[in-house]
Amino acid sequence: MNQTKIEILDKGFIQVIDKLGDDLTVVNSARVSFGKRKEKYDDNDRKLVKYLAKNKHWSPFRHMLVQFHVKAPEFVMRQWYKHVVGIETTSSSSAKDHAWNEISGRYVPVTDFYAPDNWRKQSEDNKQASQGSIEDQNAAKETFESVMRFVLDSYQKLLDLGVAKEQARMILPLNQYTEVYWTASFQAIMNFIDLRDESTAQWEIQLYAKAMKELMLGIYPETTRIWFEVNTK
Ligand SMILES: Cc1cc2nc3c(=O)[nH]c(=O)nc-3n(C[C@H](O)[C@H](O)[C@H](O)COP(=O)(O)OP(=O)(O)OC[C@H]3O[C@@H](n4cnc5c(N)ncnc54)[C@H](O)[C@@H]3O)c2cc1C
Repeated sequence: MNQTKIEILDKGFIQVIDKLGDDLTVVNSARVSFGKRKEKYDDNDRKLVKYLAKNKHWSPFRHMLVQFHVKAPEFVMRQWYKHVVGIETTSSSSAKDHAWNEISGRYVPVTDFYAPDNWRKQSEDNKQASQGSIEDQNAAKETFESVMRFVLDSYQKLLDLGVAKEQARMILPLNQYTEVYWTASFQAIMNFIDLRDESTAQWEIQLYAKAMKELMLGIYPETTRIWFEVNTK
């Protein structure tokens, strides 16, 4: 495998922990229909993958799985949580099959918080987006830092008073870092990248999607490249 970990923001990262299959997995999963199996990838496989991706024959793309370790601010992870399909979409419950495990603020005190180095301006033509930077960066930074000092002191004070971590954490803001293991199929990962490496997605989650794309190009270079060739709008 090539690169397996990419640092993101001030304290975040995305790391590949494990993976199932390689570029041949998708073509062999499709070729089982003809009772065929190949050991070496060639141009016919490229054509087949292109055909599958173009014509929405997606089930062969669900045999490749990647387990990621992600450290991201909670507000990024809240957007990630909306991607409920990780492994297969055939069960009656849409949220049943994704594989998530997360660090628990009931066990572990929260120690890391994201501090942006640029305060972005509210977009004028998109109610949920940002654009460029505000002028008074210092005023925004000072406001943020004074709130963070107050929050962190108060959190520590509650812990020192013997308050349970599960309750003390309720005063913490959304810039707290969280860590998850996320296992998803190639198809679900491509769907995530498609929706989040996109200009209307929040800048911070775009960074995670771009890093994920780079990692996927390392793990399944042929399949990922063809997928984006076919699906890039
Ligand atoms: C720019 C942006 C802004 C957003 N803003 C908001 C917002 O303001 N509020 C909000 O609540 N959410 C918002 N979302 C989240 C969005 O609505 C989706 O929930 C999220 O992007 C996950 O997409 P998904 O359903 O394709 O992913 P997954 O849950 O991973 O699903 C993958 C695919 O599986 C299929 N699938 C999943 N579930 C079903 C099902 N039950 N039946 C049939 N097929 C299914 C679909 O083809 C789907 O694309 C936003 C997303 C983006 C990218």
